[in-house]
Parts: sequence; C-alpha cells; structure tokens
Amino acid sequence: MHPFDYVAAETLEEALGLLREHGDEAKVLAGGQSLVPMLNYRLARPGVVVDINRLPLGDISVDDGRLRLGALVRHHQLEESDVLARRCPVLGEAAGLIGNVRVRTLGTVGGSLAHADPAAELPAVMTALDARIAVASASGRRTIAAREFFTGPLSTALAPDEIVTGVETPALPAYGWAVEEMSRRAGDFAVAAVVALVSVDRRGRVDDARVAFGGVADRPFHARAAEDALRGREPTTESIARAARAAREALDPPSDAFVSGAYRRLVAGVLCRRALARAVARALGRA
Ligand SMILES: Cc1cc2nc3c(=O)[nH]c(=O)nc-3n(C[C@H](O)[C@H](O)[C@H](O)COP(=O)(O)OP(=O)(O)OC[C@H]3O[C@@H](n4cnc5c(N)ncnc54)[C@H](O)[C@@H]3O)c2cc1C
Repeated sequence: MHPFDYVAAETLEEALGLLREHGDEAKVLAGGQSLVPMLNYRLARPGVVVDINRLPLGDISVDDGRLRLGALVRHHQLEESDVLARRCPVLGEAAGLIGNVRVRTLGTVGGSLAHADPAAELPAVMTALDARIAVASASGRRTIAAREFFTGPLSTALAPDEIVTGVETPALPAYGWAVEEMSRRAGDFAVAAVVALVSVDRRGRVDDARVAFGGVADRPFHARAAEDALRGREPTTESIARAARAAREALDPPSDAFVSGAYRRLVAGVLCRRALARAVARALGRA
C-alpha cells in the first residue's frame, strides 16, 4: 500500500474542506469495500484518505412519496429496513444480491454510486428509479440525475472536491418490482443484471415501466426501448417477450476474459424477460 495520511472527519464541512485543500490527492473512505482493495493493489494512491464514517449521513426517510437515503446507508440496511420493504422494496432485493454478508455490512449506498462499477446493482436501481444524487462541496450543493451521473467505468460526474451526501427518489410503492442477475459464482459481480419496475392501471394495462441493466455497458443502461414496448399494453407473455427482445436488441455489451459480448447480450435478454414477468405479477398482486 502506498503511504497516505488518514483523517476521520467529524463534520461534513471538515471533510469538504479537506477535499478542497487536497483536490485529486484526496480520497473519501466510506465502507472501504472498493477503496481498500484499490489501495492494496495500488490502483489508488491518494495522499490523504478522508474517512466520512462519523458524519450523520446514515438515515433512511420517506416524506410525501419521496425517499431519501443518506450516503452512509449500508447495503444491509436496504435489505432490513421495514420502511423500504413497504415503500421501495426493489432496493432490498437489489442489495441482497451484492457481494457477500461482509461487503453488505460495510458497503454504503454513496460508495457504490461514487465507485460506479458498471456491473453494480445500486447504480442500475437508481437509473431505473430515475433518482437524483445529492452532492456537496465547500462551494455549495447540487443534485445530479442518476441517469447522467455515471459517465463511464468507475467514472462519474462528481468533481474531485465533491462528496455524495445522499440519494432522493420517488418511492413508487404501487409498482411491481424485480431484480434478476447472473454471476459466474455466487457473490461475484453480475455478468448481467436487470432491474424492472412496472405499474398497471385499473384495466390491467401497463401504466409505466422502468427498466435498467448493469454489466452490459460502460455504465448503467436505461432500456427505453423495453419501456416503450410495454407502456399502454396488456402485460401478456408475448408483450413481455417483445419488450425483452427490444431491450436486447438495443444492447452491444463488451466482451471480457470470461464472457463474450454476444453471450452477455443473450443472458441480458433472458433476465429482462424474467424480471418483467415477475414485476408484472407483483404489480397485479399475483406474487
Ligand atoms: C468481495 C467483494 C464483492 C463485491 N461484490 C459486489 C457486487 O456484487 N455488487 C456491487 O455493487 N458491489 C460489490 N462490491 C463492492 C461493494 O458494493 C462496495 O461497498 C461499493 O462498491 C463501495 O462502497 P463503499 O462504501 O465500500 O465505498 P469505499 O470503498 O469506501 O469507496 C469506494 C469509492 O467511492 C468513493 N466514495 C465513497 N463514498 C463516497 C461519497 N459519499 N462521496 C464521494 N465519494 C465516495 C471513494 O473515494 C472510493 O473512490 C463488492 C466488494 C467486494 C470486496
């Protein structure tokens, strides 16, 4: 590990001041589940590590249909929260697929978003939900749409002196939801993952559909073609298959040492069909 200074910030202002002072040389430490391996492999060589674990950014709240998650909400809290189980259960289902118990105990929402692994679950969920990511720097605060936040592999719209403070999203409690993914081994990052959210109107037709993939591009992929193929239609086996096909056809996933792009694309289409079917069944109260 490259030597670095360590500061446990007591307040957000202190953390932001350190980032302003050290710029690119500083790295925020949240759950450490991605940063520490990067330090170990010298993929990150910061001059100073700013630990934000003492900051009061660990709350989950729902107010007027808007859900707010602090940046330090741990993955396991998403799985275990009663309020999320009632108001936004897709978060718990997604979080349960992240890594292993140790990773979920320490890893944070803000860390997962800032780290921006293209195969990570939470960036795909936030893309499907159309969430906004709240960030702060010493010069002010802003929010960034999740659909614009991720700019490439491990890259985001965050400036070096900015900290993710939380996420705000519509809770969408009336939507059916499902997260499907395939990994080479249990606990690995997904080869492909898909998040589906579906609401139906009184006639049983699809009122709204939200679909996003992880693992199939350099950032979360918002599958507009699948959404358009379902909206306004009766959610039958055929219309669901058609929507999944539309999603698959819009993908051009990369190959890596383990999986070809063509295989990843095939898997993504199958997962999309399954996720939409499950989300529809939940929206119709049949699951
Ligand atoms: C064995 C293993 C398996 C894993 N499997 C998965 C998986 O299947 N799916 C998945 O999604 N993830 C997986 N992860 C990663 C895990 O989800 C991490 O928790 C997450 O990517 C980073 O969150 P963290 O809180 O640990 O962040 P850290 O490791 O502390 O930080 C990660 C990066 O984000 C920055 N950062 C952290 N918080 C903030 C903030 N609030 N504002 C600005 N920058 C910030 C840091 O500076 C660093 O660059 C795995 C990790 C391990 C070790």
